[in-house]
This record gives sequence, structure tokens and C-alpha cells, in this order.
Amino acid sequence: MKQVKENFGKLVFDDREMKARLSSKIYNSLKKTISEGAKLDSNVADAVAVAMKDWAVENGATHYTHWFQPLTGVTAEKHDSFIAPAPDGGVLMEFSGKELIQGEPDASSFPSGGLRATFEARGYTAWDPTSYAFIKGTTLCIPTAFCSYGGEALDKKTPLLRSMEALNKQALRILKLFGNEDVKYVSTSVGPEQEYFLIDRKEYDKRPDLKYTGRTLVGSRPPRGQDLDDHYFGVIKPRVAAYMEDLNDELWKLGIYAKTEHNEVAPAQHELAPIYDTTNIAADHNQLMMEIMQKVASKHGLVCLLHEKPFAGVNGSGKHNNWSVGTDTGENLLNPGDTPSENAQFLLFLCAVIKAVDDYQDLLRISVATAGNDHRLGANEAPPAVVSMFLGDELTAILKAIMNDEPYEGTETKKMKLGVDVLPRFNRDNTDRNRTSPFAFTGNKFEFRALGSSNSISCVNIMLNAAVAESLKIYADRLEGVDNFEEALHEMIKKTIKDHKRIIFNGNGYDEAWIKEATEERGLVNYKTTADCMPHLLDEKNVKMLTEQKVFTPAELNSRMEIMLDNYCKTITIEGNTLVDMVRKDILPSIEMYLSKVAETASLKQKVDSKMSISYEKNIMNKLSSLNDIIFAGVDTLEKVLEEEQAIEDIVEQGYAIRDKVLPTMESLREACDQAEMIVAKEYWPYPSYGEMLFGVK
Ligand code: ADP
Ligand code: MG
Repeated sequence: MKQVKENFGKLVFDDREMKARLSSKIYNSLKKTISEGAKLDSNVADAVAVAMKDWAVENGATHYTHWFQPLTGVTAEKHDSFIAPAPDGGVLMEFSGKELIQGEPDASSFPSGGLRATFEARGYTAWDPTSYAFIKGTTLCIPTAFCSYGGEALDKKTPLLRSMEALNKQALRILKLFGNEDVKYVSTSVGPEQEYFLIDRKEYDKRPDLKYTGRTLVGSRPPRGQDLDDHYFGVIKPRVAAYMEDLNDELWKLGIYAKTEHNEVAPAQHELAPIYDTTNIAADHNQLMMEIMQKVASKHGLVCLLHEKPFAGVNGSGKHNNWSVGTDTGENLLNPGDTPSENAQFLLFLCAVIKAVDDYQDLLRISVATAGNDHRLGANEAPPAVVSMFLGDELTAILKAIMNDEPYEGTETKKMKLGVDVLPRFNRDNTDRNRTSPFAFTGNKFEFRALGSSNSISCVNIMLNAAVAESLKIYADRLEGVDNFEEALHEMIKKTIKDHKRIIFNGNGYDEAWIKEATEERGLVNYKTTADCMPHLLDEKNVKMLTEQKVFTPAELNSRMEIMLDNYCKTITIEGNTLVDMVRKDILPSIEMYLSKVAETASLKQKVDSKMSISYEKNIMNKLSSLNDIIFAGVDTLEKVLEEEQAIEDIVEQGYAIRDKVLPTMESLREACDQAEMIVAKEYWPYPSYGEMLFGVK
């Protein structure tokens, strides 16, 4: 193991570098900007820019880029070199405060859902000083937000920062009510657990579907899948171990606290979790992590698949968003305390989350909706598309006792008065917890498990922060200025539990009976696909909350709905076109070649002895001929529905066509192809099998 301590954060312009390289006056002024969002003076910006550039050049950088997260895709960057002509004919390495603070990428080809047309043709990037600059290759990357000149957000960072600010503002109001005067700000933290598949590059290169779409569009199940359940936490294979070691090194240099790694449920599937960080930084780091995971894989002759469902019939990949709310004084507000007042405060924050998740369950669903993630949600593996919350039996019983003014029959039987009594001890052990719940309380944080492995974590945290800010605002409005705080608080908590208890479910989320109960008896929403849920982003209550919390403008919401649906349609259209190509150019011809080989054998046999049995050949030829007819007809139909779908102008309608026509046609075409794969001899089949891909890395 290399020098972990020495190398950690080596490629990051972090606090240690700032302190060492800036005068204390400049450093303090920058810190003020970072922690309080104070405006940066231009002379401070210049000084920071010079120090940052000097540091970057010393560490091998020649270029800089404003690194940002457009609405689709992962991250974007446009590189400029530091060089400027020197009077003597040589070059100088220059970088000004202006260049640090603001950039103007030619943004016309980033999706804006019509925003730029309405406002201003060009967008600009603005430095986010709360996330450290870092070096990637020979480029200094400066984390930035991306906006139009009209101030409309064109990225994921801007609304995330706004949502954190919204939550900060409302949480501070609540904390004041509890007498917490010394807290200056409240922020949310996230630890994302990232799942992924690793396969051999050689197999990947032979699969057009993986190359163009990230998932296999055909492929029959291997004789052995995850049936034995022996991969989870199993011994890590040498090639994978070497990859993980290298990956950790790279991530540590970038200041990412990669911590836990293990095999996942499916063969070839693994997980990596960093230590949690402030949400904004966690989001930047998760984007960077996904990029580095892929880069390091290619050095090892591997490919890292981040698609939610690379292989049908095998568990897909998700991401768990572990989320908590904490103060600058180090208090985790989701941690039950030891005193009556701490307990009451904890219960209030707990209730704020319960209310938020119930009121805005649709927004949480929408925030994880992508073409890829649709394969998991509602497909009996990842949590269902129905959002519910797991609190554990004991905490649920405590809430029920509070709601009904009944004694809690736990370890100690007693009636509780909030603000007077200490909460009864409940089980905070998070090992024995429900893994089928989309949204689980795990002792001092919530774990939202519906994210897809390739999702940006920004989307879900924007919605979560905004919705919780809204609950807190309603609470603060109610509690500020009441005569009897304790009583008002008690009543409000009771009311929240009464009004929102339908969202709490501690049972098995995969159970059919639960989905029925959830939708029919409890009235929870069940949007199965992206096409179903995305239009609800613009439901009146959602627009109202998100605009009142100043997280989005109505125009931004419109554009986002459009972009997300457009992305869904484009993704599936590309998949459809890829499948058409594969079937026409590889699969049908391969089946024909094998058929001709079998026919040749049959006729040879007949030549040798006209009475020799050729029933095996006949059988195969019969089966394959009829499959070929089905496949041929299927690919024609697929082409037709793809054409029709692309001709639809209304994006919502186009989404429905994708859901109702394109996907089912692809599915039945695939079925026939997979049946053929089972019959055709291996050497005739054009693609590596599931078995080869899933068990190929030793
Ligand atoms: P699991 O049992 O779900 O695999 P882990 O121990 O691997 O749990 O932790 C999951 C993630 O939760 C890690 O990234 C960890 O840093 C993060 N985490 C732990 N405590 C908190 C917290 N208070 N707020 C946010 N994330 C947290
Ligand atoms: Mg977890």
C-alpha cells in the first residue's frame, strides 16, 4: 500500500493548501465566503486564483476548466490552457480572479429545455467555492454552477445549493425555538453507496448493445446466475482486488474518502461507499467517483458498467443515499438525544421528514426516474416504485403511543409527555433492518434506496431538502410566538403522525400484497415508469412548494420535465435502433449460417445412408426457422414503432409511446432472440454469452 496519508488529497486545493499559500487576510475572507456565502472581493479572487494556479502548475497542470453538471450526461468541462504570451517570446502561466469566478462555455449544445431560447443565448459557469478545486490529468478542475444569463439554472448544482439553503433557513428557525442560539448553520450530509459491474473489456468490445446503450439488449440467462447467493460479501477475485486498490489510490488523491468495498449480490457486481460528506461535496465526489471508476477499469482491461440493469434476470445496480441533517456545532439532528428537550427536537425533525416524504412521495419517485432505473423499480428487486418509510417496530410503536396519548408498552411502560419525558430506549441497531424499504431510518440517518446506479445524487437531494424545508417552515410558522410551546409542539407532532402514518410501513416492500394495500387502501402513488411519473413534476402542489422554497422557478421546472422525458425517449430510441441493427446484421444472419450448417449435415447424412435419422437436424431447423420468422417480423415491427414514436411531437405522448409500444416490442423481440441463442451452436452466435461476461473476470 502506498503512502495513504501522504497521498490523500494530493490533487486537491484543500484547506491545507489554502492556509499554506494564502495570506491570513485573504484566507479568512475566502473562508467567510465558503461558510457564509459572503461575496468575494475581486482582489481576493485574484490572489486565490494565483495561488491555485501556482499549486496546480507545480502539480503538473497546464490547463484549467470550469467543471459542471449539465442536466443530462455526467459532467462537462471545456479546457483552457494557462499560457499567455510573454514579451520575450516565451510563455507565462496566467490565471486571473475573473477567470476563476466566471466562465462562458459555448453552451448551446447542452440541454436547456427551451430555457436559453427564452432568456439568453449563452450560459455562464460560476465558481462554487464550497467545493474544492482538484487536478485531473493535467487539468485544474474548478467546480462550478451553470446558469443562463437570466439566472435560470441549467445544471444540477444550482438547485442543490438552493435546496440546502432553504433547509438551512427553516431548520435555524426551529432550532431557535428550542433555544439553540449558537448554531450558525445547518446542512445536510450524504454518504452514497455505489453499485457497479465489472466485466472484461474483451467481451464488452464484442457487444454493440453494451457499447451503445450500457445494457445488454439480448442474451439468454446463464445456467448459473445468483441462485447460490455466494457472491455477496464473497472473496474478492485477484483482478478485482487489484482494480479496487488502484481505484482507492486515485480516489484518495482526489480527497474522496473511499471506505467500504465488497462484492454485491449478482456475480461481477460490487459496491463502493465513501464516508459521508456535505451534500454538495458528496454530489461532486460521486460524479467524480463514477468517472474515475470507469477510467481505472480501462487501465485494468476491464469495463465498469454503471447502468442500472446491464443484465436481464440478474440483480441491477442502485445507489443508496444515506442522508442526515447536522449543525455547524456538530450535532446530528436525526440522532435521538438523552434529554427530554433533545428528544422533542429529534421527534420534530423526524416528523418533518415523515411529512415531507408523504407529501412529496411523487417528487422522490420522479427524482430517480430514468429509462435505466425503470428496470429496477417496480420490478421486484430494488425497492418498489411505491415510496414508503421504514422506522422499525419500536420507533413506530413510540410514535403510535404519542399519537394516541397511550402509554408506550416497551421496555418501560409509561405515558410520554414531550419535552418532559425522555424517549424510551428503542433499538437503534441498524444491522437488523428492512432492506426492502425505499426509505429507511437507520438509527441517525435516513437511507433512500431507490436511486439508480448512474443517477446523480443531486436530483434526489434537491427534492428531499426542499420537501423537508417545507415541513419545517410549516412547523416554524405554527410554533413561533405560541404561548405554550411544549403543548403546541406535542399537538403538532401528534397531528403529523395522524396525518401521515400511511407512509410508514415496516413490512416486506417486495410483497405483492403491500403494493395492493399501498395503492388501494393507503392511497400512495405507484408510478411505474418515467413516462408515468415525469409529467407530475408540474403538478400544482409540487410547483408551489418548489418555487416557494426558491429551489426552482416555474420555467426551470418546465424545462426539467421536458429534458428528463426527452432523455428517456432518446435513450430507449437508441436502444431500439441498436437492437434493430444487431438483429438484422448479426443475429438473423448467424441463425441462417447455423441453419445452413445443420442442413448440410442432414444432406450429408442422407448421402451416406438415405435411411439414417435426421430428426435432430429437422427439429433444430424447424425451431430455428420459425424463430427466424418471428424475429424477422419482430424487427420490422420494432422499426415501425420507432418511426411512429419519433414522429410524435408532444414529449409526454412520446413517452407513452415508448412505454406502450417500443419497450414491449423490444421485449418480445428479445425473447425470440434469446430462445434462438439457446439453440444455435456457440461458435455461430455473434456475441459473448451472459455466462462469459458474468463469470469472465478471475
Ligand atoms: P450499509 O449497512 O448500508 O452498507 P455503511 O456502514 O456501509 O452501511 O454506510 C453507508 C453510508 O452511510 C456510508 O457512506 C456512511 O459514511 C454513511 N453515513 C454514516 N453516517 C451517516 C450520517 N450521519 N449521515 C449521512 N451518511 C452517513
Ligand atoms: Mg446501505
